Amino acid sequence: MISEKMMQLGKKSSIIREIFEYGKKRKAEIGAENVFDFSLGNPSVPAPQKVTDVMNKLIAETPAELLHGYTSAPGDLNVRNKIAEYINNKFGVKANAGLIYMTCGAAASLTITLNAIVEDGDEVIALAPFFPEYRVFAEQAGAKLVVVACKKEDLQIDFDALEKAITPNTKAIIVNSPNNPSGVIIPEKDVIALTDLLKEKQKEYNKEIFVISDEPYRELVFTGEMVPYIPCYYNNTFVCYSYSKALSLPGERIGYIFVSPDMKDAGDVYAAICGSGRALGYVCAPSLMQYTISECLEDTADISIYEKNRKILYDALTEIGYTVIKPDGAFYMFVKALEEDANKFYERAKKFELLLVPSDSFGVEGFVRISYCVDTELIERSIPAFKSLYEDYKND
Ligand code: PLP
Repeated sequence: MISEKMMQLGKKSSIIREIFEYGKKRKAEIGAENVFDFSLGNPSVPAPQKVTDVMNKLIAETPAELLHGYTSAPGDLNVRNKIAEYINNKFGVKANAGLIYMTCGAAASLTITLNAIVEDGDEVIALAPFFPEYRVFAEQAGAKLVVVACKKEDLQIDFDALEKAITPNTKAIIVNSPNNPSGVIIPEKDVIALTDLLKEKQKEYNKEIFVISDEPYRELVFTGEMVPYIPCYYNNTFVCYSYSKALSLPGERIGYIFVSPDMKDAGDVYAAICGSGRALGYVCAPSLMQYTISECLEDTADISIYEKNRKILYDALTEIGYTVIKPDGAFYMFVKALEEDANKFYERAKKFELLLVPSDSFGVEGFVRISYCVDTELIERSIPAFKSLYEDYKND
């Protein structure tokens, strides 16, 4: 027989995918220009020209056995050296190639990390709202996912709730800032409060509690500030980085794990990361992409387009009367549904051809997510539909 668990997982597509598929069908029925599809988080900004230039140069000039050959299992040494140097210069930490593991994006970084640390009976905390795949990844690694709701008014950490959720079984907490689905960034004072709390709990329970910092949106920030780098505040940190959004390369599957050098027994922990990557078959991340990103570490996709979209949408929705959690980063906006049940609100929005993602799958109720990584022109055209939806509720 086959694994019932995996079969169910494979059959059950995510609500985001379902909405996206519905959108495709609807576009075929009434014309793409008449459907306002805000479902997917696929970058709408092209990769920087430099990425294409570097790839072309690599293809033209690199011997085939290197270009398309296996790298060493954790990634090419030269690439990992360059990433370590970049991290050290930017954040003032002491990374080295022996603490970096190249992966197929943040999803692989997360699954490898979770499988490297989780043992029977462990709990992993996710702060809601959270990326729905965290549940799949944590449970597959054998952990119980413990969901801690953020404060409803600003979606920042609710420290009372978090403190209550940390138990002797807590192995790790996943932190995602800027956040998918809310776009919220955890401010430095909260990073300090979080890491102080974890240090206290580590002492109390006499064990390690890890932070897994999921960072695909690190470069997508609109406030001009730098997102606090958690290894600077807390030793037991893994950084799960990805170039999917930073360089608009989600289909190329490239990212890395950085194990903080200050982690207890960092060498053994890194060995566990290598072992986990090996056990999951995640060795030798795509070689061409490893070489490419190593030449583009200082580059970022043109996020001014997301910033423009954010402003247009935020200003218009708040003016209409919607309650919006102002996003400081990523390319998502969390909007309060106009009735308690976000699924009903989502269904009603569909009548106005607005495809929004109800928040239940992100672990909270009463909101919808708008992915504004779309053409600016689509956002502008969608505003009357948002207005009609709002008025429809007013007329109830
Ligand atoms: N984590 C979060 C919060 C995400 O939003 C995503 C993708 O959208 C991922 C991880 C996975 O990213 P990647 O494409 O790098 O695997």
